[in-house]
Amino acid sequence: MNISKGVMKVDEWKGKSVLYKIACACMSDDCDCSVDFNFDNDFGDIEVDFYQNINWADYYNNNWFFTRWWARVKAALRVLWTGEMKLEGGFIIRGQGHIDSIIEAWQEGRDKMISWRKENDKMDIQ
Ligand SMILES: [Zn+2]
Repeated sequence: MNISKGVMKVDEWKGKSVLYKIACACMSDDCDCSVDFNFDNDFGDIEVDFYQNINWADYYNNNWFFTRWWARVKAALRVLWTGEMKLEGGFIIRGQGHIDSIIEAWQEGRDKMISWRKENDKMDIQ
């Protein structure tokens, strides 16, 4: 497995979790994304969590300060009255090596989840 370009394995807790960090090609830590594969020993479920700094998406067609500010006020009121909010985040992928590394991290995470599930199933049978 050659996970290297823009992706690193942060840590692995055998049988429980493996955590990868995907760097944004813009080099800002603010848009890096962490992907955490978790295996639930009790139910055999796999959960994938994403961690990233995300923002109010108030910048579309809002170049003027007061229109952005008003959009934020409306969004805050929407959260207060409906409990709903729309946030977004993203990161830039640059080059095939970066894409390949992300795919390899997902494949490695998948393989570990399958392996740990098989180990867990064997323990249930005994
Ligand atoms: Zn970025």
